[in-house]
Amino acid sequence: MDRMNSNLGTVNSPRTEGARVLRAKAALRAELDEPRRQGRTIGLVPTMGYLHDGHLSLLRIARAECDVVVMSLFVNPTQFGPGEDLDRYPRDEERDLRLASEAGVDFVYAPSVAEVYPDGFATAVGVGGNLTEVLDGHPSRRGASHFRGVTTVVAKLFNSVGPDVAYFGQKDAQQAAVIRRMVRDLDFPVRIEILPTVREPDGLAMSSRNAYLDDEARERAAALPRALRAAEQGARSESLQAGLDAARRELESAGIEPEYLEARDAELLEPVAALNGRPVLVAVAARVGGARLIDNVLIEP
Ligand code: AMP
Repeated sequence: MDRMNSNLGTVNSPRTEGARVLRAKAALRAELDEPRRQGRTIGLVPTMGYLHDGHLSLLRIARAECDVVVMSLFVNPTQFGPGEDLDRYPRDEERDLRLASEAGVDFVYAPSVAEVYPDGFATAVGVGGNLTEVLDGHPSRRGASHFRGVTTVVAKLFNSVGPDVAYFGQKDAQQAAVIRRMVRDLDFPVRIEILPTVREPDGLAMSSRNAYLDDEARERAAALPRALRAAEQGARSESLQAGLDAARRELESAGIEPEYLEARDAELLEPVAALNGRPVLVAVAARVGGARLIDNVLIEP
């Protein structure tokens, strides 16, 4: 793609005035018709808002790679379980719109819940089996219905936006694997890009939910990335089990009892007992203070 030319194109002109906010999918489609007809590439970055540098890194890559950048901003109720943090999920639309504009986003699609789930909504897109029933999807954790909520809303976003490329973060590794599978299985004509986790200086993965951490919990939360580094080091120098043991000790020393700390095949999410020449995901989830945090490290062969 020719970035010089695309920067001269008319579809990028909304950027000089900031991102255009659209609340209705019909209006969004109407805006995207013309650039699509001209063969311009459309990039989509789905978010639930309360933007941080992790989101911004996705937006920057989308801006560099695509002619038109769409960011969706929607706190999707169907991916929250009963008793989860839907009501208190942090929101600041004004700030998000400013940051999106600064990142060069052309269109922010920020629909209401009724726009996405009109009365009588009765359809779901679900990836079955192992991918959604382990780790976060395990019945004792968030459950497979969490991923049904994710895949349903992402499928709807793909249909509303029609992106050539959609960008997601490695931080949500299981979500990335599930979305890749949905796209493959249902023949969505979109390329999925998974981008590296952006971290705070002490290693904590950026997350909108970090806003729930008080000072003491914030400090303890840094044990998560320390544990993952220990897991990778131990796995490479000794054995995967030794790595997991070292990781568990790191968590214990910060008083953190993980919901899970597991090594899985990075694509299939099946358990692995040893490094085996395929990428291995070590994933952790834990409650720290008022936040449920997840993180992972990808151990490449
Ligand atoms: P969310 O708003 O939390 O649903 O996240 C929107 C997108 O940003 C998802 O694809 C996430 O995986 C991605 N993301 C969240 N945190 C990070 C991070 N620290 N680094 C990179 N990507 C992230």
